[in-house]
Amino acid sequence: MLRAVLLGTGSPPPNPLRRGPATLLALDAERFLVDAGSGVGAQLVRAGIRPYDWPRVLITHHHSDHTIDLGHLLITRWIVGQNAPLEVWGPAGTRRQIEKLLDYLGWDVEVRRAHMHEREPPRVSVTEIEEGRLMDVGGVQVSAFLVEHDPVKPAFGFHFEGGGRRVVVSGDTRPCENLMRWSHAADVLIHECCEMAKTSWFPGCGWPTLEDKIRDLASYHTQPDQVGLVAREARARTLVLTHLMPGSDRAELAAAAAKPFGGPVAVGEDLMEV
Ligand SMILES: [Zn+2]
Ligand SMILES: [Zn+2]
Repeated sequence: MLRAVLLGTGSPPPNPLRRGPATLLALDAERFLVDAGSGVGAQLVRAGIRPYDWPRVLITHHHSDHTIDLGHLLITRWIVGQNAPLEVWGPAGTRRQIEKLLDYLGWDVEVRRAHMHEREPPRVSVTEIEEGRLMDVGGVQVSAFLVEHDPVKPAFGFHFEGGGRRVVVSGDTRPCENLMRWSHAADVLIHECCEMAKTSWFPGCGWPTLEDKIRDLASYHTQPDQVGLVAREARARTLVLTHLMPGSDRAELAAAAAKPFGGPVAVGEDLMEV
């Protein structure tokens, strides 16, 4: 069966209980990591995957909370001895970001290589993606679909099908009809629920008032009263909430989502298998 493990269920604010956004999909030995949020390396190890075996990475979009530990993944698997290129699949701009990352890591790579024998620098294989089928490997078909996270364009969600199971990972999006189409009757819909009412505000943060900030950011994320409607429209079998704010209350989130959905709702926890 295609397994899905929530490695990180948090959002940009640091939360000791929730690492940054990252989800692992696996069918037997074939593995896919969606996003590389803060702490993802340690979470992969907790999920039983040593750095030498860290899998290909699929990036939903270039907000920093989804990419901040890409450098950690790429340098650490190389440090332990992995020479195969790290596969990174992501939206337009991914190639440029990886080039900058390799440039940033360049000094460290060279001082480490000075201690090693006949070691090549780390390599990355980048594929910039568009909507549609990305790959069909190890019995898993992976597709990307566009979501609505303006002004971040393009932003993608991913659809996985393998071992008789369909799992969708939303990425960051407001309620999105294209996502509902792609996740129609999915076995598991792992959907963001970034409750902006719980956000913080400080003078000079870029919004004149807390209310302005909430309204603005809520317009490109999905709120607790909306996520159940999305799952209902999609006719998903199970809804899993992720990308949670530190102040969000599990019981409140579950109740808000379950009311319009009517099906089973799981409020995500780090390392939960869904
Ligand atoms: Zn985002
Ligand atoms: Zn995010």
